[in-house]
Amino acid sequence: MKIILPSYKIEYLKSGLEILHNIELYGRTCYKSEDMITETSAEKFIKMLIVRGHHSVIEHENMTVRFIIDRGVSHELVRHRLCAFSQESTRYCNYGHVGEITVIKPCFYKEGSREYETWQSACQVSEAAYNRLVEAGGKPEYARSVLPNSLKTEIVVTANLREWRHILTLRTAQAAHPQMREVMIPLLKELTERVAIIFDDIAAVVFPEGVRREA
Ligand SMILES: Cc1cc2nc3c(=O)[nH]c(=O)nc-3n(C[C@H](O)[C@H](O)[C@H](O)COP(=O)(O)OP(=O)(O)OC[C@H]3O[C@@H](n4cnc5c(N)ncnc54)[C@H](O)[C@@H]3O)c2cc1C
Repeated sequence: MKIILPSYKIEYLKSGLEILHNIELYGRTCYKSEDMITETSAEKFIKMLIVRGHHSVIEHENMTVRFIIDRGVSHELVRHRLCAFSQESTRYCNYGHVGEITVIKPCFYKEGSREYETWQSACQVSEAAYNRLVEAGGKPEYARSVLPNSLKTEIVVTANLREWRHILTLRTAQAAHPQMREVMIPLLKELTERVAIIFDDIAAVVFPEGVRREA
């Protein structure tokens, strides 16, 4: 059994400058104020949109992120309805072929502790049962019934930036699951560094000490 850490990778996101330029250009259509566009006007304009709740303009830009997380966390993620998802399938992927499953290390159990050992041995029991069911000729889609929530999954998520703002607000909050926060907080940090303004109000709550933005 392989035990790995969760991770994410931004697969698609335009440059911060292009995003700000586009959102300003599309948003100014509402006010027919395109003549006010300057090299530095986008940040103030977009801040105004966010403060006023004129968030539909942000929907013009999208981001795609690949997450490597456990099935429990992925089940929470797919509750967000305004996204496109493509997820590793436990119906079609046969972990019996490699003879082992991969699980995500839980961030809340200290390695070597009694809780960690209990978690690890439960996953091993699941793995052994899965392998036996596959070896007996069972389809992976049947054998998956014994797989743990900790099973590693890959999921690609595409949404517009308004929906990502919503996801990041909910999923970085104290109330969110620790393993969800484990990937969403670094994602929010990276976004704040790469794109000005759009995520700043959310980041201000999560990082009250501030984050450094790329030049
Ligand atoms: C801390 C936490 C605990 C949770 N616990 C549970 C739980 O115990 N059980 C459980 O079942 N779920 C739980 N959830 C999931 C939660 O109920 C939502 O399903 C999930 O967070 C998706 O959020 P959403 O519906 O706001 O957003 P999305 O589906 O991402 O939609 C974005 C926004 O679009 C709008 N929208 C989307 N669809 C509609 C619609 N049909 N009608 C009107 N407006 C719409 C809403 O404004 C919505 O906020 C929990 C979520 C969190 C963050």
